[in-house]
Amino acid sequence: MNKCEIKNCERDTEDKFCTHHQMSWEAINSGFEEWQNALGTDLTWENYLIQLIEDDAVKTGDLAIDVAIFELEKVSDKKFD
Ligand SMILES: [Zn+2]
Repeated sequence: MNKCEIKNCERDTEDKFCTHHQMSWEAINSGFEEWQNALGTDLTWENYLIQLIEDDAVKTGDLAIDVAIFELEKVSDKKFD
């Protein structure tokens, strides 16, 4: 058993994320494709994640925010507490 890689998530998992965060991760990925279809392919993964986290007009659940921050910290120098 591992622990979910999301910070402050203590759930056990066989994989990288626990089932809750895994579901959110998949939703974020499919959401990115939808956004690209809607907004155009110059939308980058990084900008997409930033909008999920910081744009109040975009309704993002707490679990999805956790995952978005995790992914964003991998691809940028941004740090979130
Ligand atoms: Zn988790």
